[in-house]
Amino acid sequence: MSISRRKFLGWMGAAGASTLVGKTARAAANKQFSGYPDSNGVLFDSVRCIGCRKCEDACNKVNELPAPEKPFNDLTVLDVQRRTHANTFTVVNQYTPPGAKAPVFRKIQCNHCLEPACASACFVQAFKKTESGAVAYDASVCVGCRYCMIACPFEIPAYEYDKAFTPRVVKCTMCQPRIEKGLLPGCVESCPTEALTYGKRKDLLKIARERIHNFPDKYVDYIYGEKEMGGTSWLYLSGVPFKDLGMREDLGTKAAGELTAGALGAVPIVVGLWPVLLTGIYAVTKRKEKIAQEEREAAVANAVNETQAAADKQMMTAQEKAEKEKAAAIEKAVKQALAEAAKAQEEAARAAEKEPEAKDTQDKTEEDA
Ligand code: SF4
Ligand code: SF4
Ligand code: SF4
Repeated sequence: MSISRRKFLGWMGAAGASTLVGKTARAAANKQFSGYPDSNGVLFDSVRCIGCRKCEDACNKVNELPAPEKPFNDLTVLDVQRRTHANTFTVVNQYTPPGAKAPVFRKIQCNHCLEPACASACFVQAFKKTESGAVAYDASVCVGCRYCMIACPFEIPAYEYDKAFTPRVVKCTMCQPRIEKGLLPGCVESCPTEALTYGKRKDLLKIARERIHNFPDKYVDYIYGEKEMGGTSWLYLSGVPFKDLGMREDLGTKAAGELTAGALGAVPIVVGLWPVLLTGIYAVTKRKEKIAQEEREAAVANAVNETQAAADKQMMTAQEKAEKEKAAAIEKAVKQALAEAAKAQEEAARAAEKEPEAKDTQDKTEEDA
């Protein structure tokens, strides 16, 4: 049996969970459950999708995400294949299947699996399949190990790497807060062609079957998500093979929990060791983060000290310069004053010398007269 790295890590993450945190986590990793048959989901019909990106725009707004570099009405972004990331919970990609007359579009977001691999891999149970259908995430218990990202077969969860202090794993929430208020998911509400339909999963399956039945020349006779990985709450219809829309056709129908149970039986020794390894990795990661934090603080303190020292030095130099300039100015002023005083003295002396001469001349003139 060949096991991909992704599957292996998914199994191992879940296996570790079962032994590490006891009964509660064991239930999360291995328990088979119905996937809440009455839960809700969304049907995406790629035959109806026109690639307008209105759903992306709505998702950005309802989740109050940062504005993208290019506006949502700029369709040049469709020239490249994109993935969801920390600031984008959904993307629409464009495909040109062989022989197709026009491009075909596919919307990507969390599929809200019935038995989610992300939840199986999470040893602190930060992910939970809710009765409404959404796979919810609890940031308050997340330790940031990112096993969910490795385990997800659809490569959906993203990590807020740019948030230094409170990074979270982020993904589509199926607009849970809006659903609780009786509103439709933002993307569903905004789609102008009704390529997105929200409702009970079992009703969506009926609608999908009807479309396939009524328009056999338009649709491939397959509902993607009905069975993949045990089934997903988002379901897909297409007019071209799903692999031509970049969708994995190798996932099988077993849920992550079932795969985990198999792995547990097959590798008991690794299962025993895995929690130790997980704990070790977690401890090392935390220690690294602590050291990094201490180094950052030391660097900041050092920079502050250096800046302060440089400022003090500059201040001292400026003061010394000012003192020198002041002393020079005083000296100059004193010299000038002394020179002026000396000049005044000379002039006074000369004037005094001239005064008797002038008097003699005046006396003589008076005598002659
Ligand atoms: S698509 Fe990925 S992230 Fe979403 S529920 Fe499934 S496993 Fe979890
Ligand atoms: S359901 Fe909500 S969070 Fe998910 S893609 Fe649609 S708008 Fe975004
Ligand atoms: S809003 Fe509807 S038609 Fe437009 S890209 Fe999204 S799913 Fe397709």
